[in-house]
Amino acid sequence: MRKLERHFKIAKASLKFNRNKQRATAWHYHIELPKKRISIGLICHEFAHRLAWFRYKKDCHHNKKYQYQCDRVVKYVKKKDYWNKSLEITQKI
Ligand SMILES: [Zn+2]
Repeated sequence: MRKLERHFKIAKASLKFNRNKQRATAWHYHIELPKKRISIGLICHEFAHRLAWFRYKKDCHHNKKYQYQCDRVVKYVKKKDYWNKSLEITQKI
């Protein structure tokens, strides 16, 4: 997570782990993740929400602009081989 922030040069988000929630949410400065079931895909998804917000200064939800940012995150993660090391990463976030 921190590596992604550094690469895409956006402000750090505070991470909150929510035990009671099943779904993850991303706000502009913090990301809420369910305590269980954290996957690298979920991290990319939520991270892309913030990236889209920083780029366009508005909430993109899941529109085309968001999809484009999401693609960039996923490509970067795959290139860096983080995808395969996802377990290791999720333990470090
Ligand atoms: Zn979403």
